[in-house]
Amino acid sequence: MRKKTQLIHGGIARDKHTGAVSVPIYHSSTFKQEGVGNFVYEYARTGNPTREAVEALIGDIEGGYRGFAFGSGMAAITSVMMLLSAGDHVIITDDVYGGTFRVMSKVLTRFNLEFTFVNTSSIEDIEKAIQPNTKAIYVETPTNPLLKITDIEAVSTLAKAYELLFIVDNTFSTPYWQNPIELGANIVLHSATKYLGGHSDVVAGLVVVDSEELGQQLHFIQNSVGGILGPQDSWLLIRGIRTLGIRMEEIEENTKHIVDFLLQHDAVSKVYYPGLVNHKGHDIHKKQARGFGGMISFDVGSTEKAEDLLRRTKYFTLAESLGAVESLISLPAKMTHASIPAERRAELGITDGLVRISVGLEDVEDLIEDLAQALK
Ligand SMILES: *Cc1c(COP(=O)(O)O)cnc(C)c1O
Repeated sequence: MRKKTQLIHGGIARDKHTGAVSVPIYHSSTFKQEGVGNFVYEYARTGNPTREAVEALIGDIEGGYRGFAFGSGMAAITSVMMLLSAGDHVIITDDVYGGTFRVMSKVLTRFNLEFTFVNTSSIEDIEKAIQPNTKAIYVETPTNPLLKITDIEAVSTLAKAYELLFIVDNTFSTPYWQNPIELGANIVLHSATKYLGGHSDVVAGLVVVDSEELGQQLHFIQNSVGGILGPQDSWLLIRGIRTLGIRMEEIEENTKHIVDFLLQHDAVSKVYYPGLVNHKGHDIHKKQARGFGGMISFDVGSTEKAEDLLRRTKYFTLAESLGAVESLISLPAKMTHASIPAERRAELGITDGLVRISVGLEDVEDLIEDLAQALK
């Protein structure tokens, strides 16, 4: 089955009891047992048919063994980290999503998990950070907002050599363009709030594991910790995923035109986009993904100029988040990355004038006219 077909027919494509082609929203917290212990579903934290449908769907489209749905991307990430134990050490991409940095460095360290943040674009840097108690490598590619690239296959080879769990946050590329499990990752996770939901109407997280053993362990955690996705949101997510292919194709097309426009604009000094041949890691991304996505960052020189631009756009909505039908614009240094100290931001290359856009599905002519008038 090809990707676009799999998005429609993957998972549980219809309700087995009624034939309804859209899996119903099973708003039920518990289920009648035929006799003690004789049941299909027991209690909805443990399993719910609507949640199971979205879990089967993400499992299929990521090419993994089993999928899981959580109440947010952060609940998914935290639950995956619960597979580890006190004293374990994790190597993690240095410019991960801010919320991931926060939960790792401020919450999970209190439970004696140890973290080393490294530039995972460098395999040597990862290998140098391996300690006797290292248990996992956690990677985001492309990253936010500089779209740095990590070689998934190379990390996988390293992780296998040292018997480490290899986890990839695949939110930016989506399973339509990139499938880390097929490149050797053990666990793939998503903030499904972004492209998978795709309509700015649901907060959710998804995880896919590559083996039965990890599947059992993560189901045990999901049921024990309880950060599950509810049936209504599971249904919204299925509805979003069905159109992921056509949305990503169109977003890709729009993004190419906007990148070309930004490259030739005098007010823009630098454009970050993995599709540019001179973007660092372009060849690696091209090898491991089928598309470059809809995220662009560019530098307009100063906070004042950036804020001016953000005030003036009409179609690019000033908001956090990404991956929706509507185009969004943000200022990482003052918004998503404000909690990172200024010196650290400078080290990473997140300058004060760096603007990030998430390209949506509007007519690209309108989007370019909007940026043109706002950049004047
Ligand atoms: C948004 C995001 C998260 C967190 O997901 P939530 O659904 O907001 O909890 C994690 N990783 C990346 C890359 C994200 O963009």
